[in-house]
Amino acid sequence: RHNDAVDYQQILAEAAAAARATAGQGRVADYIPALAKAPADAFGMALATADGELYGVGDWERRFSIQSVSKLFTLVLAIAHGGDELWRGVGREPSGNPFNSLIQLETEHGIPRNPFINAGAIVVTDRLLQQTGDAAGAVLDFLRTESGNPSLDIDPEVAASEAEHGHRNAALAHFIASHGNLLGDVDTVLAHYYRHCAIEAGCGDLALAGRFLARHGVRADGSRLLQRSQAKRVNAIMLICGTYDAAGEFAYRVGIPGKSGVGGGILAVLPERATLCAWGPRLDAAGNSVAAMAALDHFTTATGLSIF
Ligand code: GLU
Repeated sequence: RHNDAVDYQQILAEAAAAARATAGQGRVADYIPALAKAPADAFGMALATADGELYGVGDWERRFSIQSVSKLFTLVLAIAHGGDELWRGVGREPSGNPFNSLIQLETEHGIPRNPFINAGAIVVTDRLLQQTGDAAGAVLDFLRTESGNPSLDIDPEVAASEAEHGHRNAALAHFIASHGNLLGDVDTVLAHYYRHCAIEAGCGDLALAGRFLARHGVRADGSRLLQRSQAKRVNAIMLICGTYDAAGEFAYRVGIPGKSGVGGGILAVLPERATLCAWGPRLDAAGNSVAAMAALDHFTTATGLSIF
């Protein structure tokens, strides 16, 4: 079935049932202590169509820590401000290593493999900081504007918890700096990185905020954020790098570009049609939400809507 008459509300209800069937599987991330407080069994999902209709099911309005979903927005804003210059400092190949791995960074001389592993996101945050003077603020402003929700904010407790337990990210940042690939001060860059990861938003907010990726780079107000070819490339990077070292599994099961975070959210794009955001805090071994994966899998399988 591939038609325009998909009953999105009905299919979201089915996807939520598929998510509920995973009850009890997976574990809430606790390596950032403040994240361990997330409601383990919550689940929500929202769909925003390219022309702005919004559908939701379950806890779709409840806010959660967006974590690495923020890396999508830092990337997009850094490209919007600086174009291809970014690719001198970060690659765009899948990593196959965990998101916080130090190993590849050493063999690749401080040029991270892609913008969605932590090392790469730290480089992107650094460039966005150079471009705007306030990387975390730029991401927050963008999310507020595109979601139409000016009350979105950073959870200072999560940001502080990340900083306090951020030895590995600090190690990555210093290693990158030792290769001359950070332009700003290491501690300032890390503070911005922790703050944009600690933004809280709901599934509906993120689905709306990502809509330009289903619209070939055009924002909600009709202005162009990315060139058409840039939007295509960001979707490609999400597909090959967006779900940690399980991007192959995500492509296999879900078949659309997606970006996940350890808060349990996954933002996914059906080009030309819609954006979807699913959330459930329990994670699988690769760090992706078990419930969100099941829900997105059901959605694309039942509707026949995928990029394949
Ligand atoms: N702020 C988290 C970290 O740096 C992001 C992890 C994630 O969502 O992948 O560890």
